[in-house]
Amino acid sequence: RGGAAEPVIPFTQPGSLTRVYAVTSGKGGVGKSSVTANLAAAMAAQGLSVGVVDADIYGFSIPRMLGVDQVPTQLDGMIVPPVAHGIKVISIGMFVEDKQPVVWRGPMLHRAVQQFLTDVFWGDLDVLLLDLPPGTGDVTISVAQLLPNAEILVVTTPQAAAAEVAERTGLIATQTKQRVVGVIENMSYMPQADGSRVEIFGSGGGASVAGSLSQTLGYEVPLLAELPLDIRLREGSDSGVPATVGQEGRPLADAPAALVLVE
Ligand code: ADP
Repeated sequence: RGGAAEPVIPFTQPGSLTRVYAVTSGKGGVGKSSVTANLAAAMAAQGLSVGVVDADIYGFSIPRMLGVDQVPTQLDGMIVPPVAHGIKVISIGMFVEDKQPVVWRGPMLHRAVQQFLTDVFWGDLDVLLLDLPPGTGDVTISVAQLLPNAEILVVTTPQAAAAEVAERTGLIATQTKQRVVGVIENMSYMPQADGSRVEIFGSGGGASVAGSLSQTLGYEVPLLAELPLDIRLREGSDSGVPATVGQEGRPLADAPAALVLVE
């Protein structure tokens, strides 16, 4: 093949010690970006070196959720990512004009994701989290090609309709040969003052997705967490201080999204 060599993605090189997680969902609004942001913040608070790629190119929300308003700088032809809550963050939102929509076709999306992986100065990361767009579109396929070692984390709500589409997103792993690391059910219930739980979106979606993915993929895909609806989670994403770190920069003991992957 002629032409220039493909740029090198550090995370796929032999000897790379970075765990790569791609956070996915069947549809939007289930809390995929919130889970990504809170996981990243909790991991960084534990002393891990963490990077986040906001690969939800059309619907980017990571800069707001992590409270990043700086723009990336350049050094020796590389992009230096802004740091928030100890997390290195890159998002298309840092490169487009305020409030302008991103209207790109597949090849442009692919280039953008590729550049986020090759042209950004990430340094030695323990963990790289990617916030994928919902569904199984262009970016999801690009990430599978560019990062075959990325482990897939599926976010769903308890609702049957959400769970069915989430399962399809997880099943893309059969084609891409990526490993599904687990399922997180979000918005599982609303805790009441008397200790009871109101299941606003029904129940069972997360367990159902985990069960059928385990069956189809032939290995155990665990249901990692059932996260409650919690106003602190919403406020945290709006204010740019993820609920898992709170005001003092310390993890809340009962943080709603202090999750298993942190261990
Ligand atoms: P997605 O990335 O799946 O589109 P988001 O993470 O943007 O979803 O979440 C959608 C909205 O719901 C956001 O405003 C977020 O703050 C809020 N949200 C997500 N999970 C919870 C939760 N468990 N409790 C309260 N609000 C939540």
